[in-house]
Amino acid sequence: MNANAREQLVLKGITKRYLRDKRPFTVLEDVSLTVHAGEFVTLIGPSGSGKSTLFRLIGGIERPDAGQVYIGGRDVTGQPGFISYMPQQASLFPWMKVGRNIASALEIAGIPRKEAHDMAVEWLNRIGLAEVANEYPGVLSGGMQQRVSFLRALLMPRDVMCLDEPFAALDALTRTDMQRWLLELWETQRRSVLFVTHSIEEALMLSDRIYVLTAAPARIVQQLVVPFPRPRRPDVWMEPAFMTMKRELLALLARGEEHGG
Ligand code: ADP
Ligand code: MG
Repeated sequence: MNANAREQLVLKGITKRYLRDKRPFTVLEDVSLTVHAGEFVTLIGPSGSGKSTLFRLIGGIERPDAGQVYIGGRDVTGQPGFISYMPQQASLFPWMKVGRNIASALEIAGIPRKEAHDMAVEWLNRIGLAEVANEYPGVLSGGMQQRVSFLRALLMPRDVMCLDEPFAALDALTRTDMQRWLLELWETQRRSVLFVTHSIEEALMLSDRIYVLTAAPARIVQQLVVPFPRPRRPDVWMEPAFMTMKRELLALLARGEEHGG
């Protein structure tokens, strides 16, 4: 058991290897990190550094070669069903209406049908998407699909939310809108979040803490505390401290690229 109840997600010494040309290839090497209750933590690293792999390990759909995953103090290594997850591309079921997409996820999580339906309707209303509840996902814009996808992850009764580059496919303006939107919603909910991105600005805008990964084999080179108060001001990126941290992160990532490979 983990003595500190505020530690919602703990990774200890996670190592993962895959076979490449029949030879073992280390993707993640001795990765340890912690997400405390109600904390927004971002993992930043170059593309191909093993971020999505790490989420599959946390989600229990793959096993690490070494190390453990603890959620709420319990060793859940290799066991699925303990996190809610939002992938890079909205993964709504195209044959289900938007409201049903959310309600069915809640039902799978054990919420009775009627209650799941009411929650879906109420929340779509709250995020200004009540009018699309009876539409199929295919008619929504990319940004709207990501809002619904995020809502679905948010409503899942799980202690930890893992968001894997959720805005990477959106255009710059929609992306900025989505960051603001997510921040406002998260600041009222305060769920424990592990967020993955390779955008430095996004990491600084959203997070309480940032872990920096090297290129594969990925190791954590540094963690940074983001000091800006909440609720975050939309123009926080104009502060000198923001610029300083941005430069620091750029340098760390550049160093990580050299070390990796
Ligand atoms: P990221 O999400 O940081 O871009 P990934 O976790 O998707 O990185 O991939 C990290 C590395 O692991 C890549 O080189 C990828 O090719 C490799 N990889 C991922 N999954 C597998 C797998 N199932 N078998 C072999 N190699 C894999
Ligand atoms: Mg990825």
